[in-house]
Amino acid sequence: MREIPFSLKEHPRFSSPEVGLAVLGHPIAHSISPVLHKAALEVLSRKEPSFSHWTYERLDVHPKDLRRALDQLSDAGFIGLNLTIPHKVEVLDFLDQLDPETSVMGAVNTLALRGNHWAGYNTDGYGLKMALEKELNCDLQDAKILILGAGGAARAAAAQSLLSGANLVHIHNRSTKNLIVLTTLLHQEFDSERIVGSTPQAFNDTDFCGKDWIVINATSLGLKPGEPSPLFIPCNKFGKQSVFYDMIYNPPKTSFLCEAEAGGFQNANGLSMLVYQAARSLEIWSDREISARTMFEAAKSHFSD
Ligand code: NDP
Repeated sequence: MREIPFSLKEHPRFSSPEVGLAVLGHPIAHSISPVLHKAALEVLSRKEPSFSHWTYERLDVHPKDLRRALDQLSDAGFIGLNLTIPHKVEVLDFLDQLDPETSVMGAVNTLALRGNHWAGYNTDGYGLKMALEKELNCDLQDAKILILGAGGAARAAAAQSLLSGANLVHIHNRSTKNLIVLTTLLHQEFDSERIVGSTPQAFNDTDFCGKDWIVINATSLGLKPGEPSPLFIPCNKFGKQSVFYDMIYNPPKTSFLCEAEAGGFQNANGLSMLVYQAARSLEIWSDREISARTMFEAAKSHFSD
């Protein structure tokens, strides 16, 4: 893996048969997406040697440069891009093709070059759904989902939960602005009775006490070691079958997960979501089935080094 993130001024160009993939963000140096994709491409290329010409880079792209980056990268031979903070919502202004689920999510994390334009997809929702199923053995259908946070990741989580038949999606955010933006977006697409919003200043703890919830941390609180949990009621108030999922995977055990563990609840961190969304993105670009296991092993070995 290249250690220095590429900038837009200095990015690779590919000529046939080479194929470029990349993750765009700002900052981007922390991204482990190249580790996952390179491992899966290596496995693919053993069966189909043409994939040995596929490569995956990190590109540091400032938000003001995003539109120019998309043009420049399609000209340079890139056919697939992942988007991370802060591009997932802003990119919508530059796309004219979105798959239907992605428009509902209002956020894009995957672009595929179709002809000469970029088509937008969201694989975060799929990644979360798979992570909950495989890691915590729980299904979004008929469940009650509590999402902490109302940013880009919460959008995908809420829309995926509703698309998957959740009974109730409760979004709790520290500030009102993003909460209103998200609940308004969801109300346009889904039955309002299934969507509830609250803030630390206004919530009813009887909604949670003794009831089983899938509780998802989609805030960035916990990214820095030692930060407190975003939970707004003690976790032992939730029903005994509640499960706790933190989208954060580095650090691997946030205060949120420590609290869940201490309460005896099933819990998992966001590495599985990262892996399943990455596998789905590579499936979109390659039109091949991708093994999440290979990506998992690569991620685990990266963090143990
Ligand atoms: P955004 O910046 O879009 O949203 C951040 C959210 O966190 C907002 O709701 C914000 O509240 C809330 N927040 C930030 N700081 C605090 C705080 N101190 N206390 C309480 N709430 C806070 O980020 P994303 O939605 O893109 O990402 C959210 C998290 O999910 C990140 O940790 C990211 O790493 C993780 N993630 C993981 C993925 C995975 O595959 N595992 C995929 C995508 C994201 P407010 O609206 O008030 O500002």
